[in-house]
Amino acid sequence: MIKFLDLQKINLQYKEELTEAYHRVLNSGWFLLGQELQSFEENYSNYCGVKYTLGVANGLDALTLIIRGYKELGIFKEGDEIIVPSNTYIASILAISQNNLKPVLVEPDLFTYNIDPTLVENHITERTKAIMVVHLYGQLCDMPEINRIAEKYNLKVIEDCAQAHGASLNGKKAGAWGDAAGHSFYPGKNLGALADGGAITAHDDALAEVLKALRNYGSHKKYENIYQGVNSRLDELNAAFLNVKLKYLDDVIKKRREVANRYLNEIQSPEVTLPLILKQESHVWHLFIVRAKKREKLQKYLSGSEVQTLIHYPIPPHKQAAYKELNHFNYPISETIHREVLSLPMSEVMSNNEVSKIIDVINRYDR
Ligand SMILES: *Cc1c(COP(=O)(O)O)cnc(C)c1O
Repeated sequence: MIKFLDLQKINLQYKEELTEAYHRVLNSGWFLLGQELQSFEENYSNYCGVKYTLGVANGLDALTLIIRGYKELGIFKEGDEIIVPSNTYIASILAISQNNLKPVLVEPDLFTYNIDPTLVENHITERTKAIMVVHLYGQLCDMPEINRIAEKYNLKVIEDCAQAHGASLNGKKAGAWGDAAGHSFYPGKNLGALADGGAITAHDDALAEVLKALRNYGSHKKYENIYQGVNSRLDELNAAFLNVKLKYLDDVIKKRREVANRYLNEIQSPEVTLPLILKQESHVWHLFIVRAKKREKLQKYLSGSEVQTLIHYPIPPHKQAAYKELNHFNYPISETIHREVLSLPMSEVMSNNEVSKIIDVINRYDR
């Protein structure tokens, strides 16, 4: 079976350096909010081209805390609205609703799978405070256009970069386009820790100051609490691991692009719709998604041919039991996407032979 993602193989590439990092942390006797985190935060800020990085416990916390931070600053209030794509992973929407703000869902483009900027302005009301973009599957949204709209209506731009570490446009990376961004280092992401992990990146001094306290019980100084904060920290061990893996992120992206370009150039089945990419540098291929009218049949055929695939995602957020208040809405583009998408194996450790086999199997489908 060709695995969808081989996390063992991915991490064993760095076995020596990861082991060394583990020993360094063990010997230091310091496990939270120390040198390793500080060093990762500096390295990641440099990588993304932002002023601040703050390590947190996971990607969902990163997004939730950004909104919470704007509430503490008096910029957002409960009941305010945030625009978010209707086909995103549930975490982006949870971050909004958990803060008692209202997610306003806007449909994506059917071929890039990213929020359609031409539909955004129609959804802006007096209560709209921000646009949360999601660089889904690893492709940067149309950020020049999103930022133009945000500027026109005086909105904050929050980026969900969980799938897009290193994606860029005109030399500017994911996380550097908006006012603040949430990043995930969940093990399966392109930059994955060996546990849950996440980070907030931001340009703004005041926001960073608040967030630094919020992630640590609302405290800047031990046992003095200025906010009712949370405990959401990226631990020293995983910060050390991420420092190792960050060095190789550009190589990882390069290899994923090679796999993606082979899929794009060589898959030729009328049953399969390939993704549309706007610029090479703006897609880092967290996932390679195809669409098929008879998705279940294709998935069964592929698994019968020893190719493992997954579905990202089978149920759109507005159809989830957790969001009964959204169940009556219709988002036909999202619904088509959720009905038809299938994720092919994609990673930096796939061999050329594996990629060839997958292409060959798909090209023989239904012939
Ligand atoms: C993975 C993911 C998240 C959440 O990250 P966690 O670290 O798993 O909490 C948020 N948004 C998107 C688009 C994701 O893919």
